[in-house]
Amino acid sequence: MFDLIIRNANLPDGRRGIDIGIAGEKIAAVEVGLPGEAREVIDATNRLVSPSFVDPHFHMDATLSLGLPRMNVSGTLLEGIALWGELRPLLTREALVERALAYCDLAVGQGLLHIRTHVDTSDPRLVTVEAMLEIKERVAPYIDLQLVAFPQDGYYRASEGVESLERALDMGVDIVGGIPHFERTMQEGAVSVEALCRIAADRGLPVDMHCDETDDPMSRHIETLAAETVRFGLKGRVAGSHLTSMHSMDNYYVSKLIPLMAEAEINVIPNPLINIMLQGRHDTYPKRRGMTRVRELMAAGLNVSFGHDCVMDPWYSMGSGDMLEVGHMAIHVAQMSGLEDKKKIFDALTVNSARALGLENYGLDVGCHADLVILQAEDVLEALRMKPTRLAVLRRGKVIARTVPKITELQIEGRPERIDAGYNPTARP
Ligand SMILES: [Zn+2]
Repeated sequence: MFDLIIRNANLPDGRRGIDIGIAGEKIAAVEVGLPGEAREVIDATNRLVSPSFVDPHFHMDATLSLGLPRMNVSGTLLEGIALWGELRPLLTREALVERALAYCDLAVGQGLLHIRTHVDTSDPRLVTVEAMLEIKERVAPYIDLQLVAFPQDGYYRASEGVESLERALDMGVDIVGGIPHFERTMQEGAVSVEALCRIAADRGLPVDMHCDETDDPMSRHIETLAAETVRFGLKGRVAGSHLTSMHSMDNYYVSKLIPLMAEAEINVIPNPLINIMLQGRHDTYPKRRGMTRVRELMAAGLNVSFGHDCVMDPWYSMGSGDMLEVGHMAIHVAQMSGLEDKKKIFDALTVNSARALGLENYGLDVGCHADLVILQAEDVLEALRMKPTRLAVLRRGKVIARTVPKITELQIEGRPERIDAGYNPTARP
């Protein structure tokens, strides 16, 4: 006896027509023709059922603030940082909470139930930290939220940057952040990496740094981050976010760097939407793409997952909380358009990012949390292509969001009357 059975599910690994039995908050059975009854049955009609999406890199304290107090005119990363600096003194806990809750609503509707957000610790008021700690607690029934102490204006470069980060961790922030390429000098950047890894080791916390988010091939803080990871015994607990300078580095140097990163078991978190938007801005033509070397890093066995990074904030005026939009862009920017490539990209939005975040009981195995999303698509390829409607989203075995399927009614003689969102007209009546 189950509480809920999802019948006729296609799974991301390619299995089709599978039944998923859910008991309480957990997956209790995954098999074809599952016998038994349930209080509720959902027929997935051979649609894709995936573990819920995971965003390993976001800025929830900045989201939905677009236009406050003004727009980013140049559209650049540096004007974005300056603009955030203008907005920061105007931030209130109430407004931060309201915007974050609104974003979480958007995320849930799209099956995004696990988010790691960087929280700016540059303002010694730490109103951002207070607000995000409140949000973490309030959304806990439906979203796993991890908080990174993020010294946006530089750990050393901002006045009180060192003390503020320490206080944020004391208040209960989960992860140590950093931004070495934004410190005053390369050397200060390297020193900040060492200091922040030491704090993480002392406190037993993970590390997730904005690292080398620049087109400068000489920005090599990832090398220091990997080395300090090994030295402080933090293997597997450290993430390098962005790593865009790797795009521009000399190939010989990278041939030494990637094995070092693999030794340190660095979690690599590119942000395709933001990287393609903000990098290469100083180039005329040829113009660099500025996303890190995804294919090569995956081939070397590194855990690569993709972040959304921004939605309607000083850095990025677009975005929708849809991780499939992130995957769609990743396919293009990384030029990973092959069949196996795309499957890897889907994994990078789900299982890889769950691993980066250290999520427990994530996935589709028996015993995992029943955190699931049913998509209006047959398989992962169609999902990545169409960014389809999330028909139902389950959290711990309960449906928490539904969206009506997208159906087009055609009024053209001699053509079908109904197109199921145009996904695969030959496969459905
Ligand atoms: Zn970021």
